[in-house]
Parts: sequence; structure tokens; C-alpha cells
Amino acid sequence: MEYVPVIGLEVHAQLLTKTKIFCGCSTAFGAEPNHHTCPVCLGMPGVLPVLNRKVVEFAVRTGLALGCEIRRVSRWARKNYFYPDLPKGYQISQYELPVCENGTLAIEVGGGERSIRIKRIHMEEDAGKNIHGAGGGAASLVDFNRAGVPLVEIVTEPDLASPEEASAYLKALRDVLVALGVCNGNMEEGSFRCDANISVMPKGSQVLGTRTELKNINSFRFVREALEYEIRRQIEVVQGGGKIVQETRLYDSEKKRTDSMRSKEEAHDYRYFPDPDLLPLEVSDAWIEEIRKGLPELPRDRMLRFEKQYGLPRDDARALTLDVDPAVGVLFDQVAALYSEPRKLANWFKGELFRAIKDGEAKLEALQLTPKAFADLLVLVDKGEVSGNTAKEIFGTLLKEGGEPAKIVEARGLKQVSDTGAIEKTVDEVIAAHPDEVAKYRGGKTKLLGFFTGQVMKAMKGKGNPAVVNELVQKKLGTP
Ligand code: ADP
Ligand code: MG
Ligand code: ZN
Repeated sequence: MEYVPVIGLEVHAQLLTKTKIFCGCSTAFGAEPNHHTCPVCLGMPGVLPVLNRKVVEFAVRTGLALGCEIRRVSRWARKNYFYPDLPKGYQISQYELPVCENGTLAIEVGGGERSIRIKRIHMEEDAGKNIHGAGGGAASLVDFNRAGVPLVEIVTEPDLASPEEASAYLKALRDVLVALGVCNGNMEEGSFRCDANISVMPKGSQVLGTRTELKNINSFRFVREALEYEIRRQIEVVQGGGKIVQETRLYDSEKKRTDSMRSKEEAHDYRYFPDPDLLPLEVSDAWIEEIRKGLPELPRDRMLRFEKQYGLPRDDARALTLDVDPAVGVLFDQVAALYSEPRKLANWFKGELFRAIKDGEAKLEALQLTPKAFADLLVLVDKGEVSGNTAKEIFGTLLKEGGEPAKIVEARGLKQVSDTGAIEKTVDEVIAAHPDEVAKYRGGKTKLLGFFTGQVMKAMKGKGNPAVVNELVQKKLGTP
């Protein structure tokens, strides 16, 4: 019998607020341990949480971008469990009444498009971090800087049919969150983390199999690997006549396997109940409309627009809009408004600009390049006033120092010589200086053409227009 996988994902995304969800402590990553703490996020007795309005705004913003219904009155709940990084002994979360429900996210797979249903989005606080064996000793230390940092948990319906789809969904979701400015999407720092639920069932069946949950997988590659392993494992078990036990499993990226962490019997009973310290959360129609008006263009919409408006191939449109700093697409629009050949422009983005962002660890906004200078430079190339190579050199200067391309060309004497008279003179000189090569060329060794153009370019310090040089060298040498 053939089995097919069924996957549902739960993503925890850290929200980019300046302060924590229920106190005024900073959310900045990388501070000295326990420096971003106060009685509230340390769970001292007698303190009260005060909700950060920005957290709700970001959650609603996310819900609207994902086409969710926004609940006008939602509720905070206590999720009770004991762990050293959870000082109160409970996490403030949402349970039966989450702020957003029933959304969708479009993903691209195998050239086609699929819509993945989002079941719910709720807000909650993050826990602190346990550091085991710190300093090589036997002790475990706790850092509460992360305790109380706001999260949204985004849960899909079991709609994903392969590890590739799971990975495509995560990438698409991360793109949306980054474009919204609600999360930095950094998987290594744990700002965007994923738990994957997975089961298998006979092909064509309508009845879902028993699922396992894979915890905290911290890269796109590991998500695929962990799911692939787990699908193989589950199929082996059911084909061997066994039963899948519902349990939580951890992926070991070195051994490339999943291992049981806890079974359902050992699973927590969280004893959820409404948090008596917080009022039900009300979100007004007016506020929702205000947030909706502030939504930016989403990455996939931008990709489709680039394809249509600029006539770009899908791969180019994708490179400029998906899995990339959204500022890239903004810059593209700005330059394209001043320069009429979007396909050529896209090549400059994919080549020179992306190389600069990657090599220099430079953020786009830190670059000195203006849209006008970018467009002017491409016009200079089109007019034949500078060669392609010189243009790349000028581009490097524009990135670091800014300036106007025409002035840089002038100041550095980079202007390309297209004047036939000047080139012809140099060609004559080169031909006169190499009688042996001329004889060989005319005797049929046409490969020598490159030698002559090279000599001419060298004599002109690289500034001769290559097309003109080529044409004149051929003309002067004659047909062999
Ligand atoms: P819980 O309340 O135990 O967290 P949920 O119903 O909220 O369970 O589901 C959690 C996640 O597991 C969701 O993403 C859902 O799509 C997924 N899921 C549920 N059942 C299955 C199944 N049989 N196979 C794969 N994924 C599943
Ligand atoms: Mg769950
Ligand atoms: Zn605090």
C-alpha cells in the first residue's frame, strides 16, 4: 500500500516590539544575561501585567495580511507548567479565543500554486533560556532576558503534503512577517521557530493517521530533513503492522534522525484557564481598519506585479521580491521609474547589487547609491559612454561613496572612446607593429583577431569601445 504524508506546522515568531509584552523591559537580543528584567517578567509575587498595545497591533497586522478573521473580543489564558525558565509557573497565552482565525497563505510548489489554510494566530509571552553546563561546570544557569518577549503562534490546518511544501510555506510565511515589519525572521537567533506535526495515511484516504510532533527545528534544511526521516520511519512502522504513538520527538541534526522526547501519557496537562489579571481583549472595528490601511504590499503580490508591470521572467521577479530584504523591491520600483529597460535593470540587481549586499554584509539602507545615480549609470552604458566593466567599477563607488556617475567618469577620465578616428589610428599602429602576426592572420590563422583587439584595447587603456575596436580591426586586416 502506498502512504502519503500529512503535515501541519506551528510557527512561533518573535514580534519586533521595543519592549516586552507585559512590562517595559527591552527586547533587544544579545544583552548581558538578566539585564533586561524587572519584577513583572521575573514573576515576582504581587505584580500585575500591563499589555503592550503594539503586540496586539502586530498580531492583527499579521492576521489581516494572512486573510484571517479578527476576533473583536479575545481572551488571555494561563498555560500552567513548571520549568526553571518560566518564573511564574505559567505562561500567559491565548487558548479557546485566539485573536485571529481562518486565514490562508499562498505557496508556490512545482511551478503551481497552493493555498494553505491558517487555523489560528494567538499572542503569548516567550520563556527565558536555560544554559546548561555553563563555563564547563555542572551548573545550569537561567537567563530571563527573553522571558516576556512577545510571540505570535501561527498554526496551519494539516494541509501540507510534503517536506518541500512545508519548507515553501515557512519561507512564504517568513517573507510576509518580514515585509510587515513584525518579525526579523532570524531562525538562528530563534526569532522564527517551527514545530512540525506529521502523520501518514494510505493514499486516497480521508482519515488522518496518528501524528507525532517534531520540536523546535531551527533551519529550513532541518525542517525538510526531519520530516523526510519521520515520514520514512512512520511508513516503516505502519507497513510492518505497527502503530504510531502520538508523541513529541526531537530532531538530531547530526545523526539526522528523530528520537522520542515524551509520549502522550507523559504529556503536560496545562490546566488552561482565563487569566484573572488581564481583561478580555477588545479590538475595535476602527482600529482594525486603521491597521488594514497601513498594510504594505506583500511579497507574493509584489512578485506578480513585477512580472506583469515590468515584463520580467518569473525567476527575476522572484529574486527581487522573495527571501530578500523588502527594500530591494522598493529600490527596483524607484530605479525602474527612471530607466526604461527593466530586464537589464534586473540583471544589475541580481549581479552587482546582490553581490554587494552579500559580500559587504551591507544592509541596503546603509548604501550611498541613489535611484537617480543607478539609472544615470545604466544610461551611460547604453549610450556607449562607458564600458560594462568601467560601469561596474563606478557602481562600486556609488555604493560606498555615492555621487553622480557623469562626474565620476569626468573626474577619473573613464570616458569610453567611440570616436572612430582615434581608434583607427591605434589600430593602424598595432598592425604596423606586428607584421608577423598580420601575415599569419591573413594566411588563415583567424584566432589572432583576439590578439589584435587586445593590443588595441591595451594601447587605449581599456577605454576603446569594444564594438568599434572589433569592427575596425576586422576591416583593416581584411578577410583572410
Ligand atoms: P493541539 O491542540 O494538540 O496542539 P491542534 O489540533 O491545534 O492540536 O494541531 C496542532 C497542529 O497539528 C496543527 O498544525 C494541525 O494542522 C496539525 N495536525 C493535527 N492533526 C494532524 C495529523 N493527524 N497529522 C498531521 N498534522 C496534524
Ligand atoms: Mg498546539
Ligand atoms: Zn520586565
